[in-house]
Amino acid sequence: MTSVKDEWGMECPNCHKDDRFKVEISVMAILCVDGTDPVGDQTWDEDSFCCCSHCDWNGTVDEAKLAHEGTEGIERPARDCSVPHEEVFRRPMLTLIDGVALNQSNPETFQIPTDEEKANIKPGDSVKIGIADHDEQFWVTIETVAEEHFFGRVDNHLLTDEISFGETITFQKRHVLTI
Ligand SMILES: [Zn+2]
Repeated sequence: MTSVKDEWGMECPNCHKDDRFKVEISVMAILCVDGTDPVGDQTWDEDSFCCCSHCDWNGTVDEAKLAHEGTEGIERPARDCSVPHEEVFRRPMLTLIDGVALNQSNPETFQIPTDEEKANIKPGDSVKIGIADHDEQFWVTIETVAEEHFFGRVDNHLLTDEISFGETITFQKRHVLTI
């Protein structure tokens, strides 16, 4: 059976599925008094918006094609679709302060929340994380709790320009320094 992958050379860059892929098309329509009557071809190209209903990835046709070229011939398991795509894909990788590692090397002076406290973190909570390179700590409001990741919105104005107030950041339990 032919698939979208085979036929169009496109797949979701995030979850690598191809069966719930939407693409934005342009179509001309005759304007009538009671609405529009589509005529002619539907068109879309490399820059057309497309998205995946499995994981909510969205981007362009070009990106979906590149994702497919990169995986052609490679069998790989579908990724966890519960993780919102854009954080995973678009956010440049920031090196966050690893609270667990710091606590292990300085148990007396570097305190972190317990595993139990971190397991109870829920959307709406404020937690403090930090960027390792700049040793800058800031508050983040939790938006989504996924299996291994948190997604939160930066709640402080920062000195670094790598991420700024209001942006979404992805991090893990080990990065939580204060709740
Ligand atoms: Zn997807």
